Amino acid sequence: MGKPARLTIPTEPIGSIPRPVDLIERIAKGDSEDPNLAPFYEDAIRDTIERFEATGSPVITDGEQRKYHNFATYCVHGLPNTAPGGFKISFSDGHTRRLSRLTSGPFRYRRYADCYLDVAMRYALVPVKQAVISPSALSLMYPSESVPDYSREQFIEDLLNEHGTEIRRCLKKGAHKVQVDFTEGRLAVKIDPSGHLLNSFIDLNNLALSRFSPEERRRIGVHTCPGNDLDSTHSADVDYAELLPSLFELKAGNFYIALAGERDRRHALQTIRKYRKPDQRVFVGVTAPADPDIETPEEVRDRVLEASEYIPIEHLGTTDDCGFSPFSDDTSTSRDTAFAKIRARVLGTKLAENHIGGAL
Ligand SMILES: [Zn+2]
Repeated sequence: MGKPARLTIPTEPIGSIPRPVDLIERIAKGDSEDPNLAPFYEDAIRDTIERFEATGSPVITDGEQRKYHNFATYCVHGLPNTAPGGFKISFSDGHTRRLSRLTSGPFRYRRYADCYLDVAMRYALVPVKQAVISPSALSLMYPSESVPDYSREQFIEDLLNEHGTEIRRCLKKGAHKVQVDFTEGRLAVKIDPSGHLLNSFIDLNNLALSRFSPEERRRIGVHTCPGNDLDSTHSADVDYAELLPSLFELKAGNFYIALAGERDRRHALQTIRKYRKPDQRVFVGVTAPADPDIETPEEVRDRVLEASEYIPIEHLGTTDDCGFSPFSDDTSTSRDTAFAKIRARVLGTKLAENHIGGAL
């Protein structure tokens, strides 16, 4: 008789790791695509992957070292048919970030995220996941007044095609998962409490997800969070009960849900229990990137055990609440702190596995 299968709780990061300060300073002096910066990007990626693997994380990312200027606009940065001054995101500490806006059609990505995978997989010894931006976030680039000779409908069709191409390229290259960043989901409820904006985002993202087979969707996930920039959030005051019922309508196999930094985790978990579909896996956030205190493995273990009261263990995973610097110039969290939190996530998830496995 073989040994009984060991219980494993999958654990994955969200994506970004703070860039080395030297790299941030070099980019600030010039053009993010200056070929002279290539060796510095390469060093940052190699160092990030080495340190990521040293944490024991069974799945890693490239830390988004090359995603300029952020998790949302990396694919359109530098397009000639865009201009600054698009959609504005307001954070709780009073600072704002702005997307770019489309000035003419047609809409095409300038780069697909699989270009980052190419580099990361050259260095990585363990599986690499890749985050991509959601169609709903990029839909905010189309201005409220229409673009001449390029209707909103044409834009949406082009956007869905580009997003679909990006995911397919990442899947084909062997991404462990492709995670669609959907931070604007919770923000949508804040902007429009009626829920219309959120539901339009869900519909749009489902049009994109429908283009994939059920098997492909098991490798596709969606990330939700209240935002994380300069240790500040944009929508933490929105009750998860306003978001999660719609979120779980998304045709994705995996959900990466910020939870460690929530004021009332059990309330969020009750909502997850009520609305999660039977085949959907939930990776709960067990570390809070915006909190300067480093979680202990025991704290993480307790958060996993708490979540296991609401989510069947075979559909539970753990993650960080968010990336550690979704905007590339954010130095509010150090690389050392980010990796220490990731190590705590990995160790704490193991402790929970042993605890639950021992109790089976
Ligand atoms: Zn996030």
